[in-house]
Amino acid sequence: MHNIDIDLVEMTLDVTKYVINRITNTNPVLGMPKKEEELKKLVGETITPEGIGGEVAFEKWKEVLVKATVPIDHPRHLAFVPASPTRSAIMFDLITSASCIHGAYWMEGAGGIFAENEAMRWLVSLTGMPKGAFGVFTSGGTAANLSAMVTAREHWRSLDKNHDALKGLIITSVGAHSSVKSMAKVIDAEILLVPTEDVLTYDKLRETIEGLDAFTRKRLFAVVATGGTTNAGIIDDLDGVARFCEEENVWFHVDAAYGGGALAADSVRHLFNGIEKADSITIDPHKWLFSPYDCGAILYKHPELAKKAHAQEGSYLDIFKDEGAQGFNPAEYQIQLTRRVRGLPLWFSLAMHGTNRYKEAIERGIELAKIAGDMIRSNSELELVREPSLSCVLFRKIGWTPEDYKEWTYENQRDGFALVTPTKWKTGETYETVSRFCFINPDTTEEDIAAILASMN
Ligand SMILES: *Cc1c(COP(=O)(O)O)cnc(C)c1O
Repeated sequence: MHNIDIDLVEMTLDVTKYVINRITNTNPVLGMPKKEEELKKLVGETITPEGIGGEVAFEKWKEVLVKATVPIDHPRHLAFVPASPTRSAIMFDLITSASCIHGAYWMEGAGGIFAENEAMRWLVSLTGMPKGAFGVFTSGGTAANLSAMVTAREHWRSLDKNHDALKGLIITSVGAHSSVKSMAKVIDAEILLVPTEDVLTYDKLRETIEGLDAFTRKRLFAVVATGGTTNAGIIDDLDGVARFCEEENVWFHVDAAYGGGALAADSVRHLFNGIEKADSITIDPHKWLFSPYDCGAILYKHPELAKKAHAQEGSYLDIFKDEGAQGFNPAEYQIQLTRRVRGLPLWFSLAMHGTNRYKEAIERGIELAKIAGDMIRSNSELELVREPSLSCVLFRKIGWTPEDYKEWTYENQRDGFALVTPTKWKTGETYETVSRFCFINPDTTEEDIAAILASMN
């Protein structure tokens, strides 16, 4: 299979050509999903005893399968949290694959892990966490949140033997990302949601625990604040949450999977004050730091606590005797063992462009949200649901029903024009269906925004 033959050389050229075309195309076709049966009919049998050949398989990819995907870097893809990996990061993602590096232990991955750690040092510096704080790249925000919650829970149990028998309790807010709630299930912790999608504050946390009985309060081991909610870009009062956690002696985690990139943006950095006091922070470089999928990160104030919780033991893992093998082992700080050195594309792109370019590209996302806000304000048929926050804009078309938003979304996608999806926002006691933009891609233009708004007519 690994013989270098002429076919393989040709295939390599074909793949390279495809990659160059794709990453230089800043306006890729906005694809549509198809039903599985339809795709099967179009591609036929692909896995056969003899193989169908690279050329044929590649053809099926180009002609059918990739067209049933939505390129998330499309400048008019403003749904969920879009992405916009730099060309250099994508190129280096190919190099990361081609280099075949096992990124779990320094023994095998030293050079790659060194580069990842250079990028990590910059991330840590953005947070202002104290000396000694460090982190590791994960598959995404979900894995990062899980790794932090396991560390927090193990630390809590180490404080008092009686905690071993208790089901731990985490407090967060309704605005927290769904992964916080689902990862609490994974570690069998109970989650208490402060009923607000707006800013989580010291007072709201105090109020919440005052309503708890002594036994339940004893089970509290962590508070998860959000540094940029996924739905609306809201940043909790991190200073206030930090004070609460300090008084209650519980773990302070900040989920900044989406918003973390904005730590590099001077115009909004002050909104994150207090984040430097966190015990752990989640940041997704594959969201607002222009890395290809997948790349998350978990940062710890005391990495040794993560090591206590996560280091795996096994007779086959005992070989770190060599001088050169002494170093940082990413496997020991999060849930995964075998891992891709997925921070490598970020490192290369940061090294190539410099951190100022990152600042500018992130500020552009924030600026686009303001521009969209102004356009909405000056349009008598549209209304802002709330002021734009970070790069999120929630707005309504006066008189529209949930069905109208849905039809409009599908029509734009079918036309290959844009992907903008509705969301819900609670006004008073009821949830209202509204529209939402989330800006990441600095190639999105004011004309794009104007055209999308015009398509609501
Ligand atoms: C996207 C997101 C997550 C989940 O991250 P994945 O990389 O999708 O696993 C967690 N928290 C917040 C706030 C997010 O925006």
